[in-house]
Amino acid sequence: MIAEYLLEIFYLIASVTYVLGLKMLSGPKTARNGNLIAAGGMTIAIFATIFLYKDADGNKLGNYIWIFSGMTVGTIVGWLAAKKVQMTAMPQMVSLFNGMGGACAALIGLIEFPHYIHATGETLTLAIIFGGLVIGTVSFSGSMVAFAKLNGNMKKDIRMPFYNIINTAIMLVIAGLAAFLLIYNIENATMWVYILFAIAFVYGILFVIPIGGADMPVVISLLNSFTGLAAAFAGFLYGNMAMLTGGILVGSAGTILTLVMCNAMNRSLVSVIFGAFGSTAGGAVVDTGDKSYKDISVSDTAVLMNYSEKVVVVPGYGLAVAQAQHAIHELEELLESRGVTVKYAIHPVAGRMPGHMNVLLAESNVEYNKLVEMDDINPEFSSTDVVLVVGANDVVNPAANTDPNSPIFGMPILNVEDSKTVIVNKRSMNVGYAGIDNDLFYKEKTSMLFGDAKAVLTELISELKGM
Ligand code: NDP
Repeated sequence: MIAEYLLEIFYLIASVTYVLGLKMLSGPKTARNGNLIAAGGMTIAIFATIFLYKDADGNKLGNYIWIFSGMTVGTIVGWLAAKKVQMTAMPQMVSLFNGMGGACAALIGLIEFPHYIHATGETLTLAIIFGGLVIGTVSFSGSMVAFAKLNGNMKKDIRMPFYNIINTAIMLVIAGLAAFLLIYNIENATMWVYILFAIAFVYGILFVIPIGGADMPVVISLLNSFTGLAAAFAGFLYGNMAMLTGGILVGSAGTILTLVMCNAMNRSLVSVIFGAFGSTAGGAVVDTGDKSYKDISVSDTAVLMNYSEKVVVVPGYGLAVAQAQHAIHELEELLESRGVTVKYAIHPVAGRMPGHMNVLLAESNVEYNKLVEMDDINPEFSSTDVVLVVGANDVVNPAANTDPNSPIFGMPILNVEDSKTVIVNKRSMNVGYAGIDNDLFYKEKTSMLFGDAKAVLTELISELKGM
């Protein structure tokens, strides 16, 4: 009896740590500790289950060798993966880990349904099992495709003819089959549940393969919310409060994040799922036609910056790829030591995942108050001498404001054109993730500073030091 009470208390503690951890994740200063607190709560919940849980007949878990062997392997793989991953590969790692969560929920469904399938009065329990099984499976196979796309293993978006109709039809088949199994107590139900699993698996793949590269982070966030929901179903099934709270939090946080990202890109979720935007992989060569642009040398850039009063840096995906976060911080400190005010303009979807730039710059100890959100920095550009765009493209594309035919029309952007001078550092005239040309590069006040961000910034620093 005491063990049962203790278990509930530990689950309550775990649930509180999830809520607290999630709250702390909302600010960069507290995020690291928030993560640790929630992970600590999860550890408590896991060990409490292993040692205190008893089934209806009063039996404890047992199987300790299997449980701890699995946990050891999982811990080593997870630890090594997290240690080795590059910031730029973070979205695919999130996708992989999310897929594992979905697979766990699906396995719970497959293992638990034989216990309830022919029992009377268990329709609700069976519905919960099927819900977790289907959603978890879709999340698993969908996340694996998302991983392959983001990791560059799957380069093309595959769009079958009438793919929207086919996908909708498959979804209806899944719902129909699950309803049939719930209503009719058929003999060979086990085989049909495995068929349900297989169809859900195929649906997860078909759901993600047509979606364009630029929309993948949104899809990952959506799949994340699916995994949360599937885990919540499992928590409900086992009457496990920690699992239920964790699942609901992941499900709702994933849904909110999905909507926030859609808003920041001015796209509806429906257009992300059913549309074909973003199918062009970043890096495609752009035809500049008869438009002309001018380039600038590193030494001219150094002079310009040295004599400025205010410089705003716009970091983008290229800064992350080049791992130039330490170099940009050194440049910022050097300029500040010469009396130049330096700020960073942070676009909500700069990079490849929400908060990408904040995390990257925090890694190189840039002071948090120097990072200014889009809405706050936009009015400041008119009083800025030099804007240095480093490896960003779509988030400063004026077509979002001016060209109704542009696929990014309506996406809020950083209005860098309002400043006196714009210097854009990238390696070429190639397009960014949305796959479209950028008129900013051809403007009178814009100069292109070509080269790898880290190499160029390092040169710029030594040039400035020599002045
Ligand atoms: P972009 O992908 O638009 O542009 C990045 C630029 O960096 C490229 O044009 C590339 O040009 C340049 N670059 C690449 N490598 C280097 C390097 N080593 N040194 C210097 N420059 C380099 O990135 P943004 O950050 O501007 O925009 C983010 C995009 O991602 C948006 O389209 C956004 O909608 C999308 N997205 C973001 C999400 C998020 O949550 N953050 C979610 C979903 C989508 P070149 O090849 O010439 O060097």
